[in-house]
Amino acid sequence: MSRIAVIPGDGIGPEVIAEALRLLELLRGKGRSFSWDVFPFSAETFLRDGRAMPLEALGQLAGYDAILLGAFGDPRIPDMAHGREVVLGLRQGLDLYVNMRPVRLLLPELTPLKRGGASEIDFVVLRENTEGLYAHAGGFLHRGTRNETALQTSVDTRFGIERFLRYAFALAAARPIAKLTLVDKHNALRFSGDLWYRTFLEVASAFSSVSAEHRFIDAACAELVLNPGHFSVIAADNLFGDILGDLGAALAGGLGFAPSANINPETGKGMFEPIHGSAPDIAGRGIANPCAALLACAMMVEHLGDKEAAMAIEKAVRKSLAEGALTRDAGGTLSTSEMGKAVMARMDIP
Ligand code: ATP
Repeated sequence: MSRIAVIPGDGIGPEVIAEALRLLELLRGKGRSFSWDVFPFSAETFLRDGRAMPLEALGQLAGYDAILLGAFGDPRIPDMAHGREVVLGLRQGLDLYVNMRPVRLLLPELTPLKRGGASEIDFVVLRENTEGLYAHAGGFLHRGTRNETALQTSVDTRFGIERFLRYAFALAAARPIAKLTLVDKHNALRFSGDLWYRTFLEVASAFSSVSAEHRFIDAACAELVLNPGHFSVIAADNLFGDILGDLGAALAGGLGFAPSANINPETGKGMFEPIHGSAPDIAGRGIANPCAALLACAMMVEHLGDKEAAMAIEKAVRKSLAEGALTRDAGGTLSTSEMGKAVMARMDIP
């Protein structure tokens, strides 16, 4: 029995997670043994209690096999303090050091690219998830004065980079095109970039079956738009990986279709979420696209060992889209629950 902690969050988070839970119900009806508990951590709990989640929650969540997360974000908390508390708290607290964003074009019409390459959009962006510029190291001097100074320090450790790159190379070795592209900016970031690049060369030498190459972040962005078929696995630090993940999502139809996983390959812990935020502009209207959440669910059940169910979910999403079931962000008219139903009706699973 796999135990899942579900955190719907804010805005459209609970709307898309509701469809993911219907999907888990369906799988349970097919004999899959999942159980889940819902944790209502959100902007509301933060505004009410001064914390988005109680202090003991981390220990409690660590006891689950997986975490399924909706989205955080609320206009009443402009600095996203509550989202950072939960999302970064869990990424750091559970040491989920790999962030994985598969980029697959599920329907040719969904890419904004006009020519070529579209059918070849099938790559994975891997982002180091616990260090870099998002490690929360820095501070202010003379805050609020004309002499104000901000320091934002990138924390990059040999240990953190090496374990991340080892996972990235192993993943690349198992893909049909065994190629890994390191994306950095070591010509300008002379310390952190240099450590990344040297570690990359060293780890690459241990994976002779993988073709290892390097791109600077600016060139990589251009090449992703001009020739996305070039890429198989892209590995990057926390900041560049974040940016490349959203660029990838845009190439494959937008945020409504982009799932992600945060994992620790050694402990097996994982947190799965759509990459989109709470989308306050459409929250409460029942029009959010649930596909990213459903595909995050697919990544989660695969992580829990059920590859068959994961493939059935992805196939059902592809089939729904091919047969014209689309939400408004993708040019259709379906509501969130209608889209969820369309996918579930096409689930072909024994
Ligand atoms: P947050 O502050 O929580 O990150 P945001 O609005 O800045 O929220 P996102 O929520 O990631 O950022 O989304 C940006 C825009 O993309 C939204 O305003 C919304 O219009 C659109 N969008 C995102 N996710 C979806 C979805 N699942 N379905 C439809 N549209 C979406």
